[in-house]
Amino acid sequence: MTKPLIDPFQRAISYLRVSVTDRCDFRCVYCMSENMQFLPKKELLTLEELDRMCSAFVRLGVKKLRITGGEPLVRRDIMTFFRRMSRHLEAGDLHEVTLTTNGSQLSRFADDLYAAGIRRVNISLDTLDEAKFARVTRWGRLPQVLKGIDAAQKAGLKVKINTVALKGFNEDELFTLVDWCASRDMEITFIEVMPMGDLGGEDRVGQYWSLKDVRAELATRRTLTDIPKRTGGPARYVRVAETGQEIGFITPLSHNFCESCNRVRLTCTGELYMCLGQEDMADLRTPLRASDDDAGLEGAIRTAISHKPKGHDFDYSRARPEGQMTRHMSHTGG
Ligand code: SAM
Ligand code: SF4
Repeated sequence: MTKPLIDPFQRAISYLRVSVTDRCDFRCVYCMSENMQFLPKKELLTLEELDRMCSAFVRLGVKKLRITGGEPLVRRDIMTFFRRMSRHLEAGDLHEVTLTTNGSQLSRFADDLYAAGIRRVNISLDTLDEAKFARVTRWGRLPQVLKGIDAAQKAGLKVKINTVALKGFNEDELFTLVDWCASRDMEITFIEVMPMGDLGGEDRVGQYWSLKDVRAELATRRTLTDIPKRTGGPARYVRVAETGQEIGFITPLSHNFCESCNRVRLTCTGELYMCLGQEDMADLRTPLRASDDDAGLEGAIRTAISHKPKGHDFDYSRARPEGQMTRHMSHTGG
């Protein structure tokens, strides 16, 4: 039996989030600048390398993979990767593979994803207004995403909508979005906007809208009850008495729940971030490329996990003074 990955604070690492590309077909204003510089291809892990990397984590006890980016479905031939991961699902070594997507490519890929064993997808959508959607994503078009959502549900995928809460942008759509999700049997989770990367500033749509305020606003017209659902991450859930719908609130840098953290993040270049809120990372690409044998890679993963910090609040000094992280969300994968 391989020893599972346990960090210095006795937390078992069972969840790996993998960014498979830093590229995207959108340029969301809170995520990217309009003229993003992307990484040269040779920096990226190949699909075979991503397979080796993820398979090593699975051998070490990871049970859940979330594929993200950038936009994971714009990576060329990404379905090959999903199909390869299905062998771990079939063997029972992996319990779940999911993805976070902007939905633009789902009408093409939903059936293939289902066939590869994917059962749930998170789709990011901040507004149901076409003009606002074009403004916040810069390059995205709402009808294409709505078609993608239809295709996902038709294929049998359970859909959860992720909405970044932006004051002055989607504040007026709070109930529209929640009711629309309820009518389509979709959960919705709100995400607090984080100051990530250098976005050039001029395009910032909306402002920080605290999820405490979002919740308070919802409670003016709905009966909300906290539910004890835990995912090991920073999401907390309520149930709406009127509809039975679950609503999540994700405060990505909230540190109240670090003690139950079960996750690490791999970038598309093979850097392992042990904590979303810290700059510390381990390079896994070098040991991966150094040998065809995975012993060195597994050793490097264990060493990295042995450095997983207790929580990000211990180390704000390494982030920018106001808590701003220097890397983009599309780099670490949101
Ligand atoms: N392209 C895919 C998508 O949009 O779902 C996956 C990658 S995206 C970086 C993952 C999630 O991060 C999305 O739900 C997006 O809204 C969120 N995100 C991006 N930048 C963010 C920021 N500055 N603060 C909070 N959430 C952010
Ligand atoms: Fe692309 Fe997702 Fe970032 Fe929007 S949030 S620019 S869709 S990676």
